Parts: sequence; structure tokens; C-alpha cells
Amino acid sequence: MDHPSPHVLLFPLPIQSPINSMLQLAELFCLAGLQVTFLNTNHNQKLLLRHTNVESRFRQYPRFRFRTISDGLPEENPRSSVQFGELISSLQAMAEPFLREILLGSSSSSSDGVTEAPVTCVIPDGLFYYAVDIGNEMGVPVIPFDTISPCCLWVYLCIPKLIQVGEIPFKGHDLDVLFENVAGMQGLLRRRDFPFYRLIDYATDPYCQIALKEVESIPQSNGLILNTFEDLDGPLLSLISSHCPQTYAIGPLHLHLKNKVGEKRMPISASSNSLWKEDHSSIQWLDAQPIESVIYVSFGSMATLSKEEILEFWHGLVNSGIRFLWVMRSNLLRGEELNHQFVKELAEGCKERAYIVSWAPQEKVLAHSAIGGFLTHSGWNSTMESIVQGKPMICWAVYVDQRVTSRFVGEVWKIGVDMKDMCDRYIIEKMVKDLMVTNRDEFKKSAEKLSNLAKESVGEGGSSYNALECLVDDIKKLGR
Ligand code: UDP
Repeated sequence: MDHPSPHVLLFPLPIQSPINSMLQLAELFCLAGLQVTFLNTNHNQKLLLRHTNVESRFRQYPRFRFRTISDGLPEENPRSSVQFGELISSLQAMAEPFLREILLGSSSSSSDGVTEAPVTCVIPDGLFYYAVDIGNEMGVPVIPFDTISPCCLWVYLCIPKLIQVGEIPFKGHDLDVLFENVAGMQGLLRRRDFPFYRLIDYATDPYCQIALKEVESIPQSNGLILNTFEDLDGPLLSLISSHCPQTYAIGPLHLHLKNKVGEKRMPISASSNSLWKEDHSSIQWLDAQPIESVIYVSFGSMATLSKEEILEFWHGLVNSGIRFLWVMRSNLLRGEELNHQFVKELAEGCKERAYIVSWAPQEKVLAHSAIGGFLTHSGWNSTMESIVQGKPMICWAVYVDQRVTSRFVGEVWKIGVDMKDMCDRYIIEKMVKDLMVTNRDEFKKSAEKLSNLAKESVGEGGSSYNALECLVDDIKKLGR
């Protein structure tokens, strides 16, 4: 049977980690010979072009195009975690008409004037449930890419049942109560690990409402892409499959892409997709440190901390006696810009053992031999990047999938410790010593084992390698 030329439209959430993962997926599709359109917001596209080589990198693929739309917010508005809900709904208002137009084929010429084949498959972020409705309405297959952790996605999928049996909203204030109706997580998942752990009323919690809409849209889609691998999440993937026509576990994506780019000997290799300027002096500083002597500290691109929390972490780290490299983003401090003087004074106080940057080349940092561990907020990309490098973690989860992921790091994969809601300098000091010194060998052994499995999964014949081939084949077969 003759199929139309496959043309995929990728549409990420307008924040760093999904943009990173979707660009990696876009490049994998380009290498597989698909036509790809990447829909970005004007705001993020500007940052991406300013701080990365994406323009020259993607010029290697003549069938790749960027398209941009407004996210609906005035340019001067901040786009941090506080405004996330507002950003998502204003973007929806802009994206819905755009999607209808491009799927109709009436918006088929790109910014460079090239006429494109009609879009044959949409790959939106899993949170864009409305893209599934639009695809179904217009007869275009939709395969969402859920960029959160599969363990959290599984919890989302269980929410309707938890409501039905009365486990949510929570009765009482004890956050150590275990959930009984999350299959595969009995005896493991406590209220404090729940993505919306302060949930009082699911009907009025906007994030829980979006999660519920996403849950409804999954069975209506043509499949689901996940950034994980069988040996990490096998049992959960089976559970998730029961809600979804077809799942494709093709991660760790960044490693998968590096392999393919190497295989095809592309002149420009896969590199950063950062929306911030990377400070490479962090690598020079690491070059001067002994092997596995440094703990890397980063809370991702969105999480914010109070000044008190920053100071607890700082004193805990300093008191541990371990060297550390800390990413202090300018918007790390909740509610206000991080004061340069404050950061400078902190750094001056521990010059010989600490180094601060405002944004690091994280994949390179984690791959550095001087790094022995990672103090992380348990964002899913950071977790996968750490697993690939076999670096044990201390988890201080802030919200949503981070809360479930950190529980898995500590109790299921046993590649680190979960601080959860504690932010106390004595606990931080103890955990840093535990990870980097006392129980180092044990953590390192389990982290390295998982790292090897991750590498096998994206090698020829591995589970993620095969799943990607299957995904590309299925996309090629999808007609309109
Ligand atoms: N990252 C980076 N430099 C930094 C901090 C983070 O390149 O200094 C990247 C990191 O490699 C990861 C992403 O930003 O790919 C953060 O994603 P994650 O899912 O861990 O957290 P989020 O930002 O979504 O909370």
C-alpha cells in the first residue's frame, strides 16, 4: 500500500526539559529520514537560537523546519514555575487554531517559503490533551510524548480510581499514609510521594485537573512515547500499556541520539539545547578536582527555593567537607531575582571547595570523572542523565513527577537517597557524607549496573533501539 510521505509535527511544553527531549526526538526522526516540523514558542525559540548551535545542527537535515507561535504572554512577563498555569492556558489559546490550520494543510509553507507535505502525525507533549482531540477531529494520528517520569504517569493514570475509592482527596493530615490502590506501588507510595501532595480538593486543583484530562486523552491517542527503557521501568510499562494502544519506550533519549549521530557520522554532533548560556568554566574547575570528589548540585530549570532553604543546603554542603559544584540560576530564589552579591559572598566563604555557576553544561558535568554524585530535584531529564552516567543521587523533590521519581531512586532502583520534604543542614551534611563516603561503594555499584543497562537498551538490538525502529515504522505506515 502506498503511504503519504511521513511528516511529523512535534510540539513540546514551552519549558527547558521537554524542549530538550523533543529536539532529541526530532533529530532521531531526521536521522531516520522523516520530515519533521518543530513547533516552538517565539520566546523560547529566541533563547534557543541565542545559546545553542541548533540552527547549524539542524541545517544538516534538509527536511527539518522550525515553526513558531506566540505563547500568548507579553514578552516582558516572566515564564517561571509560578506562572506555569497561566502560560499553559495562554499557549493553548494560541496553539489550537494553529494546529487546526496546519493539519488542514492551509498553513503548509514554512517561514523559509518551502511548501511542505501535509502533516501525517502529531507528537505533542502528553500534557497537551487538546492536541489529541484536534487530531481525532481532523483525522490526523496523534502519538503524545510524555516527558515526565513513567512512575508519575502511572500514578496519574490511577487518579480516577483513587477518587472513586475515596483515597483522594486525603482524609487527615498524615502524609506517611500509604496508597492502597496504585497497582505496582503497594507498600511504597506514600501521600508525601504523590505528585499533588498538598491536594485538598482535586476538583479545584488546576494541575490535577490537567493531569485528569491527560489521563482521559491517552486511550484516545494512537500511542504514547516515553523517555525510559525496559530494564528500568518494565513493570510500569506493562501497567501503562493497559491504558494505551501502543507504548514506545525509547530512552534514554540523549544517549540514543548520541549513538545514532555517531553511527551516521554526522559532521555536527548532538549537543546542548539550553535556553540559558552554559558556563564552561565549570568543566575547567572540575578538571582540577580529584576523581569522584565533587557532588554536583542543581535544581533544574524551574524549581525555586526560599533563601532559608538555599542557606540550609549551603551550610549542609560546606559542613560535609565534600567539594561541590552548584548551579544557582538567576531565578532560583522564590519570588525575587537572586542577588549577585549574596552569591558572591557565599562563594568567597568556601573558595577552596565550592564553585558556583548560573547554568552548566549538565550532560558534560555529569559525565566528568571528578563528579561522584548529584544533589538533584529529581526532574526526569536530570534523573535519566544521572542514570546514564552511573552517578548516585540525593533527591530533594519539589513538585509533580519529582516526588514519585525520588521515591523510586531511593526505594526501587536504590541508586541514591530521598530527602523528600526535609531541608535541614544536618540531614544534608549526613546524606552528602553517606553518598560520597560511607556507603559510596554500594551506591556506585547499583548506579553503574543501571548505567550499563541503559547503554545496552539503546545499542543495536536493545529494547529502546527496537522500540524506536517500531515507532518510525508505525509513523511511516500512518496515513491520512
Ligand atoms: N540543565 C542544564 N544545565 C543546568 C541545569 C539543567 O543543561 O545548569 C538541563 C538538564 O541537563 C536537563 C534539563 O536542564 O536536561 C532540566 O530538566 P529536568 O527534567 O531535570 O528538570 P526541570 O527543569 O524540568 O525541572
